[in-house]
Amino acid sequence: MTSPHRPDYHLETRLVHEGHQRTPFGETAEALFLTQGFVYESAESAEKRFLNEEPGYSYSRYSNPTVDAFEQRIAAIEGAEAARATASGMAAVTAAMVGQVQAGDHVVAARALFGSCRWVVEDFLPRFGVGCTLVDGKDLDQWRAAVRPETKAFLLETPTNPSLEIIDIAAVAAIAHEAGATLTVDNVFATPLFQKPLALGADCVVYSATKHIDGQGRCLGGVILGSTEFIETKVQQFLRMTGPSLSPFNAWVLLKGLETLPLRVERQTATAGYLADALHGHPKLRRVTYPGRADHPQAALIKQQMSGASTMIALDLKGGKEEAFRFLNALRLIRISNNLGDAKSLVTHPATTTHQRFTPEQRAEMGISDGLVRLSVGLEHRDDLLADLTNALERA
Ligand SMILES: *Cc1c(COP(=O)(O)O)cnc(C)c1O
Repeated sequence: MTSPHRPDYHLETRLVHEGHQRTPFGETAEALFLTQGFVYESAESAEKRFLNEEPGYSYSRYSNPTVDAFEQRIAAIEGAEAARATASGMAAVTAAMVGQVQAGDHVVAARALFGSCRWVVEDFLPRFGVGCTLVDGKDLDQWRAAVRPETKAFLLETPTNPSLEIIDIAAVAAIAHEAGATLTVDNVFATPLFQKPLALGADCVVYSATKHIDGQGRCLGGVILGSTEFIETKVQQFLRMTGPSLSPFNAWVLLKGLETLPLRVERQTATAGYLADALHGHPKLRRVTYPGRADHPQAALIKQQMSGASTMIALDLKGGKEEAFRFLNALRLIRISNNLGDAKSLVTHPATTTHQRFTPEQRAEMGISDGLVRLSVGLEHRDDLLADLTNALERA
């Protein structure tokens, strides 16, 4: 009763069907197995299940059919051998990094990371004797210079949040491998559609599924992808024993989210490109940064490693924090929120929210000025969004 999984089907087809195992009831939609555990036919069967000598489920902290379906579907899209879902994006990043190191090891990470990811490598890992060096991810010499004999793992995010800078995944993967280390890429901004870090040489990809994969602001989720060997030796035991498991209900929401991912991301990206072009050169803006524009400082690298642009735009207002606040407060349709990738367009002022805990110097290093506004473009009509943005800019 399973659906035909054929690797030669196109992406859109696989996003609708991959991982779907129908029960004997023959339901159309994926079943939601909202159960914490599973019963065994006999005591002998329970014993075998625990010895891993008999296939089947035992407890949803370990695995669950709905969560499995989500993992199989996203693994197919990413082109990964294996995937493990987690309760949030941060649970995925934490498990991926903690699972790879032990006391005495060393990690190298790009400094332009999502705030909580940076806390995990910069503040949390050192508590357990794991060293961390932060580098300017765009500067390959800094990655090379940061390597130590005990370096085990590299971490980067590209395009970066919120300044939309690009890091050369293939080049950094080569430096990591030469050092005997692995590379983990946080691929949230690119989405599984526009960038394939594993094909570019990365060993592990992590997502906050809370963003584009849900895409409708409903639930938190995360996923870790890599080779079967990577997943089974580095992260599986940590996930099973510490328990940041994805709820089957959230897995079901995210599974349905994957079905419409290309429709949403392609439309949101097209609208973002239209808005970036329309806002370029506005007298109140110092800069409009958008990965789909030819004037992005790293346009050549974008062409090389990404197959699409972004649903995100970075706007730098000349008048600093005061003008940025007036702009945010004057928006009517677009709302102030720190989520992204949502059907609803959302704006954030990173310097006072997501990146508030950094010093002004650290923010400057990450390309975050006091006038920077991050815009996540949703599914509204592009002209309603443009009218809201130009109106608010006028009043800023
Ligand atoms: C949101 C986000 C995360 C964290 O994901 P949660 O689901 O909120 O835990 C990690 N990395 C990036 C780049 C993000 O945007």
